[in-house]
Amino acid sequence: MRASRRGRVSRPPSGYGEAVTPRTAPELELMRLAIREAEAAAAHGDVPIGAVVARDGAALSAAGNERELRGDPTAHAEVLAVRAAAEALGGWRLAGCEIYVTLEPCAMCAGAIVLARLDRVVYATPDPKAGAAGSVLDILGDPRLNHRPAVDAGPLGGESAELLRRFFAERRQDPASASSRSRGESATR
Ligand code: ZN
Repeated sequence: MRASRRGRVSRPPSGYGEAVTPRTAPELELMRLAIREAEAAAAHGDVPIGAVVARDGAALSAAGNERELRGDPTAHAEVLAVRAAAEALGGWRLAGCEIYVTLEPCAMCAGAIVLARLDRVVYATPDPKAGAAGSVLDILGDPRLNHRPAVDAGPLGGESAELLRRFFAERRQDPASASSRSRGESATR
């Protein structure tokens, strides 16, 4: 991890995360909002992942994963939250904004975050199977791209990881309640 280049990277040492640095109250509040979106996603059978786009510490948009709900492979929480924030601001460029997401973004979402020019990404827990903020790919830190947001990891990582663990444990116990479309996939997406 090239932590020095981006300066603000702090990553949990291994696996699903625990908070590794002290967090400010507004930051925790925004991540709590993202976790509530993740919980709402689980209620309709979607993998519990939530995202919030904020500016100056205030939420502009919040969304949960709706892939199963919409039958749309691109309906990840981050994409939905970025779209809603762009709509709220009246333009695609989200410079000056931050995104709080409960799980390290995948390649698609990291790409959308770069294209939207978000200033900073804060994620709760890493995704060792599909994360594109350094776990599998590092789209958010690739110097060949024309925009690199700051990345910070860890706030409420334990809570977010627990939501995911519970979701998949329940699905294993009661596969009939799981959507046939998503059964048998890798752990998170
Ligand atoms: Zn994604």
